[in-house]
Amino acid sequence: MNPAARSDALVLFGASGDLARKKIFPALYAMCRRGRLDFSVVGVAKSDWTLDDFKKHVGSAVREGGDVAEQTLARFVSLLRYVDGDYRNEETFSKLRTALDGAKRPLHYLAIPPSMFPTVVEGLGHSGCAEGARVVVEKPFGRDLESAKALNRTLHSVFSEDNIFRIDHYLGKEPVQNLLFFRFANSFLEPIWNRNYVKSVQITMAETFGVEGRGRFYEEVGAIRDVIQNHLLQIVAILAMECPIGSDSVSMRDEKVKVFNAIRPLAKAQLVRGQYRGYRAESGVAQDSQVETFAALRLHVDSWRWQGVPFLVRAGKCLPATASEVIVDLQYPPQVVFKADKPNRPNYFRFRLGPDVVIALGARTKEPGEAMVGKESELNVLRRRGDEMEAYERLIGDALVGDSALFARQDSAEAQWRIVEPILGNETPLYEYDRGAWGPSQADVVARSAGGWRSPVP
Ligand code: NDP
Repeated sequence: MNPAARSDALVLFGASGDLARKKIFPALYAMCRRGRLDFSVVGVAKSDWTLDDFKKHVGSAVREGGDVAEQTLARFVSLLRYVDGDYRNEETFSKLRTALDGAKRPLHYLAIPPSMFPTVVEGLGHSGCAEGARVVVEKPFGRDLESAKALNRTLHSVFSEDNIFRIDHYLGKEPVQNLLFFRFANSFLEPIWNRNYVKSVQITMAETFGVEGRGRFYEEVGAIRDVIQNHLLQIVAILAMECPIGSDSVSMRDEKVKVFNAIRPLAKAQLVRGQYRGYRAESGVAQDSQVETFAALRLHVDSWRWQGVPFLVRAGKCLPATASEVIVDLQYPPQVVFKADKPNRPNYFRFRLGPDVVIALGARTKEPGEAMVGKESELNVLRRRGDEMEAYERLIGDALVGDSALFARQDSAEAQWRIVEPILGNETPLYEYDRGAWGPSQADVVARSAGGWRSPVP
């Protein structure tokens, strides 16, 4: 089979779940609106639904997602099929085989609890539904290095690596794509994008809200597993990687994995963990929970380009802003020429990755008047509101045509676990912080030598 052949059916395991409702159905509807969806979408769950119930569920999920054109929605709904059954029963998979109606290259999307991955993968294998098929796996890809390896063994027992799509929706976001584009579509960055000119790199992912009723889920993950091991390490890779020889998935992913392999596994001293006051009172959270809702850490990238440059990463809930931002601080000028001028920060690049999109260059300009003193100015290269295309739409579209550039490869997924492995297990001290603070004050130490944290302005 031609590896690039477009999939001719989409099977959604977890069709009655939260992710399907919030993200996947709206994305499929958007694909339909753009004329990019014209084959069966088969939902599989054990909700005791009829096809009609399923259609109603999908219709209301799409409506919740925003404005709809009724005609397009009707076209989308007409593509739906439904298989009711437990994944632990063989019969579910024989019903699925019938519903696939001879599709040659189905895409199976596993939007299900991770504990169900092996059952479904094996069911697909035994029933013949995996023949010629691709599979999309939702994060988390394991809980640590060992379980990630076990998951990969399970997937490889039925699917080849080029048919496996580990989805990290963060990589499909427009501003993240923009960061990659900005780095490698311009020539002016390259001479300064290294240890000689870059003083430090900071990445902050902040949310003003807490666990919002998902306490039970959050207790199993914490900030490190939820966003640092995956999303934020991927951003580090985009910032630190060498130029790939092309935009194909092999070249891109080869360069990224080199960065992950160059990052030293984290020592406990490189990390500060925090928990917002009131987290333990959230539903589903243990009264003595040691799970972090905030983490700040310092990475060392042991490469010729980045040796000695701190990569500071911070993520947390109940912080003063909802924003994700990268700051690349450049070195101060080597000599102070204007003695009266007192810069409090060097030149920098600022990449706002959400909710709005900004690429800006921070520079010093002279204040009008006699004295040679300056002020901070920002040159905006790009400033735009939010995403035009939802990440899920982009990524499902890519998986349907077999383009894996924006999905995590096995070696990357494992290398990312290797970096955080030593700091997993809630063993380092946990400091409380007030809602609305930038984490515990102890986190300041992590960024001290880089001149302190640069917090995104809401
Ligand atoms: P939910 O618990 O909301 O949904 C789970 C789905 O799996 C339901 O459709 C459920 O069917 C089905 N299911 C579970 N066990 C069985 C079984 N034995 N037989 C048949 N169906 C079964 O999970 P989410 O949608 O929240 O998450 C799904 C995946 O996506 C997880 O891996 C999660 O980590 C990941 N994810 C979720 C995000 C989110 O925002 N929700 C964000 C990023 C990733 P039924 O209802 O009929 O029991």
